[in-house]
Amino acid sequence: MNTARNVPELFGSMVFNETVMKERLPKDVYRKLKKTMREGTAIDADVAAVVATAMKDWALSKGATHYTHWFQPLNGISAEKHDSFISPTDDGGVMMEFSGKELIKGEPDASSFPSGGLRATFEARGYTAWDPTSYAFVKDGSLYIPTAFCSYTGEILDKKTPLLRSMEAISAQACRVLKLFGKEVRHVTTTVGPEQEYFLIDKRDYAKRKDLIFTGRTLFGAKPPKGQEMEDHYFGSIRPRVAAFMQELDEELWKLGIFSKTKHNEVAPCQHEMAPVFTTANIATDHNQLTMEVMKRVAQKHNFICLLHEKPFEGVNGSGKHNNWSLSTDTGENLLEPGRTPSENAQFLLFLTAVIKAVDEYQDLLRISVASAGNDHRLGANEAPPAIVSMFIGDELQAILDAIESDADYTDMTKTKMDLGVSALPDIPKDTTDRNRTSPFAFTGNKFEFRMLGSAINIACPNIMINTAVAEELRLFADELESAADFESALHELIKREIKAHKRIIFNGNGYDDAWITEAEKRGLLNLKSTAEALPHYTDEKNIRLFATHGVYTRIEMESREEALLEEYYKTLHIEALTMADMAREEILPACTTFQNELAQTARNKKEVGVSNTMEVDLLRKVCGLTEELYRKCGELSDAIAQAPQADAKRLSNYYHDMVIPIMNAVRQPADDLELLVGKKYWPFPTYSDILFYV
Ligand code: ADP
Ligand code: MG
Repeated sequence: MNTARNVPELFGSMVFNETVMKERLPKDVYRKLKKTMREGTAIDADVAAVVATAMKDWALSKGATHYTHWFQPLNGISAEKHDSFISPTDDGGVMMEFSGKELIKGEPDASSFPSGGLRATFEARGYTAWDPTSYAFVKDGSLYIPTAFCSYTGEILDKKTPLLRSMEAISAQACRVLKLFGKEVRHVTTTVGPEQEYFLIDKRDYAKRKDLIFTGRTLFGAKPPKGQEMEDHYFGSIRPRVAAFMQELDEELWKLGIFSKTKHNEVAPCQHEMAPVFTTANIATDHNQLTMEVMKRVAQKHNFICLLHEKPFEGVNGSGKHNNWSLSTDTGENLLEPGRTPSENAQFLLFLTAVIKAVDEYQDLLRISVASAGNDHRLGANEAPPAIVSMFIGDELQAILDAIESDADYTDMTKTKMDLGVSALPDIPKDTTDRNRTSPFAFTGNKFEFRMLGSAINIACPNIMINTAVAEELRLFADELESAADFESALHELIKREIKAHKRIIFNGNGYDDAWITEAEKRGLLNLKSTAEALPHYTDEKNIRLFATHGVYTRIEMESREEALLEEYYKTLHIEALTMADMAREEILPACTTFQNELAQTARNKKEVGVSNTMEVDLLRKVCGLTEELYRKCGELSDAIAQAPQADAKRLSNYYHDMVIPIMNAVRQPADDLELLVGKKYWPFPTYSDILFYV
């Protein structure tokens, strides 16, 4: 097949999209469905029935036999339960059926999804509700219906619903602000383009390592002689085997209507990246979840395993995800595009100020939105942004903000009215390379790039935080400006005041520099170093108030989310600790014993025949010492796991962070030293050199 020619035909071919809807739905049904999609109104039963039948017929033509309500539970993975379309007929046969009711609502037995205690009482079931704003699609013989997931008491149990709510919140407030600039805008969309990093390793190596199988990362492994220091991988030529994978990945993603655009090698050996063209935030979220799934599946076909863990290998870069974020009106205006006219400038600067204020006031939420056991290995590790949230805006914008802030210019500004110190903004170069890779939250010309995300994370959470926090600032700004006697001077006052109050969050320097940690502390910025430290701030009163104000989360929902996240954190560490002890005891220690035995025999034989055995004896001593140490530390690790207190999720998270992680590090040390001393043929699993430099 000539893919190059067929892309337009291939693209979206497995999606129940506009074209298919127009083709297969009666005009009035299509119109009603569009209205629902646009306005988020409830859909009536007749319309749902017609849509369901059309969807089913289309899905059957694409080879589907089943349907599933696809949703995103609190733990990163998408969930699905497949039902077939079959329905028995009187004569003992079957027909393929799908009703409106089945389309709109599903009742998965949801008791095993994390809920943070929400469904702990009598009602263990939840239901899924169709989200008509995201297209249904066919994958692996099933019709996938994007849905939201709720408990019967109405609390939301997924990540999709709060994302949609946050998008509504920011849209409403942005429209209010735009009205002040004389613009009648009906809707403002949040646009998102997530860049996804991943590792590809050979399936055979993976199958031999329990740590990769159970935890997604290596818990042991000495540094190979070569790492990423030659910088020969990034943008380097792509290995044919990987190129074949990437080509198939693109095709599969295109079929699902995902705008896979860029592919290249990343910094670490075996590391790669895929970037899509940006789209509406909820669709970008669905697409990113799908992308991760498709990556894993296509990798298997090419005898690879796709690792999405944030830090699969010590000593080389881990994987992140850059969340490019902006706001766009239904009239096609990007609100983070610096303007050409004085009035456009003022509007741009107001939105910029809202983002600056939001990031400063809700640093904790941004940090929390990217907190996970896996991402803890990256943040602050000189390869990813530090755990301190700060913003990069570049010299050009900095100069403008400085001018606004200084009083002298202010007099000037009142004279020149709306131009806020400059009649037109200078061209702000859009960076094609990342101008400041060390910044957690960087302005890149016409969007912000949030760079703290871990590769495995669901992008819904970070976007919920950004949307809601910015919505709140826009709400306050609109309140103030709507009641102002003189809009223009009130606008000046507001921007000047807020820049002064929140400029501490702006840092255009090198985030990897130790001096920044000290400086950030002086500025009073948060430095939440671990997930255990960060997560409990989720339910700080100011945050509960924020989400309640905008109808995104209730207090109960937030409390349950915090608990679910903490649980996920310590359970991850628990599994890692168990796996580590297991590998050491069952694989490494026996291998060391065999090697020691061989050394001892050789030493004895050599002595017998009267030749020097210094090397064997010396090596034996070293290996024995390290083996003893490994054995001892393993005991300590098992004790620490056994002694974990019967406590709530918060205390357990602290326990695993403070008590278990240090011992895990202490177990790894002698094991990695041993790997370098024990003969290759004795070592029980593939090493970093084997895995990262396969051919
Ligand atoms: P780089 O980050 O390497 O400079 P680009 O500027 O091309 O690369 O874009 C990176 C990502 O940002 C892409 O996924 C792109 O689609 C996305 N992006 C570009 N413009 C916007 C926007 N207005 N809103 C959201 N994402 C955007
Ligand atoms: Mg980028």
